[in-house]
Amino acid sequence: MIRFEQVAKVYPDGTTAVDGLSFEVAEGELVTLVGPSGCGKTTTMMMVNRLIEPTSGRILVGGEDIRTVDPVKLRRRIGYVIQQAGLFPHRTVLDNTATVPVLTGWKKSRARARAAELLDLVGLDPSVYGGRYPAQLSGGQRQRVGVARALAADPPVLLMDEPFGAVDPVVRERLQNEFLNLQATVRKTVLMVTHDIEEAVRMGDRIAVYGQGRIEQFDTPGAVLGTPATPYVARFVGTDRGLKRLSVTAIEAADLEQPPTARVDEPAAPAAARLRADEARWAVVLDRAGALHGWVATEALSLAGGRGTVGDLARRMDAWVPVGAPLKQAFSEMLQHDAGWVAVLDGDRFLGVLTPAKLHEALRRSVDADAQGVARDEVEFDSVADA
Ligand code: ADP
Ligand code: MG
Repeated sequence: MIRFEQVAKVYPDGTTAVDGLSFEVAEGELVTLVGPSGCGKTTTMMMVNRLIEPTSGRILVGGEDIRTVDPVKLRRRIGYVIQQAGLFPHRTVLDNTATVPVLTGWKKSRARARAAELLDLVGLDPSVYGGRYPAQLSGGQRQRVGVARALAADPPVLLMDEPFGAVDPVVRERLQNEFLNLQATVRKTVLMVTHDIEEAVRMGDRIAVYGQGRIEQFDTPGAVLGTPATPYVARFVGTDRGLKRLSVTAIEAADLEQPPTARVDEPAAPAAARLRADEARWAVVLDRAGALHGWVATEALSLAGGRGTVGDLARRMDAWVPVGAPLKQAFSEMLQHDAGWVAVLDGDRFLGVLTPAKLHEALRRSVDADAQGVARDEVEFDSVADA
């Protein structure tokens, strides 16, 4: 969808901002450009909508060499979100949002209706905020208007230059999550600039790590964190890259341990006998459909003296995560509930549990899988427990 071919930009004063840029952003993909200040991220981005012209090389958008496209027409196909949102201070939020549709010749009423729809989409009630001026909004709200405005004409491509850079960390994380939810529905082709590796990793399907004027590594967040291509990238992603990787590695069914289970309607006495025979101190309690009901201690079953069912003695299981969630979420659940393991569910259905050892193994396996370019369950692995 967006393709850079050997692109370089040398500014008139002789500064080489970028050199030898070649990469591609697939349709519906979100690519983050990350690197320190002055490494050429903004220059890269502004070449896509022809606010800056490359010195050499070619850029294609939707298969077309953008030099052959009228810049004004090009920009209507490309939404642009910048830091501080760049809103017109003397126009209302609604009119700011309707800017591009109005420019492209929509009737004012239709453009405003569309703007109201978009404000709703980014979580701003148009009847409350539509009539306000940008100065009457918080930083986070202004950024939301910036996103709404960029999406108003429904462009296939979105450029975002440090879109959440000007807000505090709590608001920033909320905006990031909101944008990811939005992106899951609108599926734009997005190029997003940030200097923050955490943001790059959280937002990007793939990330381009910039050194001085060039890309040092272009890969998935997991691969960049797991196997940095150069010492520069390793330094840039930080010594805690293993920890960061927890947040980009999804829990897979193959990572899980199968603990002893008991059925909720099973009589307590035989269940206790069976668990004791297996030397199990606890069991996961499931209902007839295989949904998680809770957990039960073998001791509690034994103490019941043969009365009641497993369900009578079961306790709630608060530590659980859906399959596909990041490992970090599982780890966080363990800590929050002071649990030695978390249940992993597919909808209601219980799939297994993740223990700290299994979590570590999943992380190791995913690093190896990225390095070998294979699926995680194809990696040969000797766990610490097996050794
Ligand atoms: P980033 O967005 O990564 O901080 P930029 O793309 O803004 O980096 O800048 C890349 C390099 O190009 C920097 O060294 C910057 O000083 C230089 N630069 C940017 N714009 C101009 C310009 N108009 N004239 C000369 N040098 C520029
Ligand atoms: Mg910049």
